[in-house]
Amino acid sequence: MTETAKPGCIFCRIVAGEIACDKLHEDESVLAFRDIHAQAPVHGIIIPKRHVATLDDFGSGDEALLGRLMLVASQIAKEHGLPGYRIAMNVNSLGGQSVFHAHLHILGGRQMNRLG
Ligand code: 5GP
Ligand code: ZN
Repeated sequence: MTETAKPGCIFCRIVAGEIACDKLHEDESVLAFRDIHAQAPVHGIIIPKRHVATLDDFGSGDEALLGRLMLVASQIAKEHGLPGYRIAMNVNSLGGQSVFHAHLHILGGRQMNRLG
């Protein structure tokens, strides 16, 4: 585990290679992999390698990291030839977050419905 990993965090364990994933992208600060319960033909999870629990836990100085998550999403969409796609981030339990290591979802390969 890296210094910034949180013991027991499932996504930190994926970063550490302790849990296998179907990798979509990796660079110095970001990892992306297919969601284990895909909701679309292309359903990726894009995470900072550093443990950050929710969007609310990023700080000033994390602008580049947050921007990097978005750019990786766009790169994955291009690599998969997605003409349209959705980016979503669930924040806290009421926002639908179930894994408390901040992540973007990228969904594509089918028509997206209205948000609700
Ligand atoms: P959340 O509900 O927190 O926005 O999204 C968490 C996502 O992580 C869920 O869509 C869930 O299917 C996915 N997930 C949970 N555990 C694992 C895992 O061990 N491997 C992978 N690839 N995805 C996972
Ligand atoms: Zn974590």
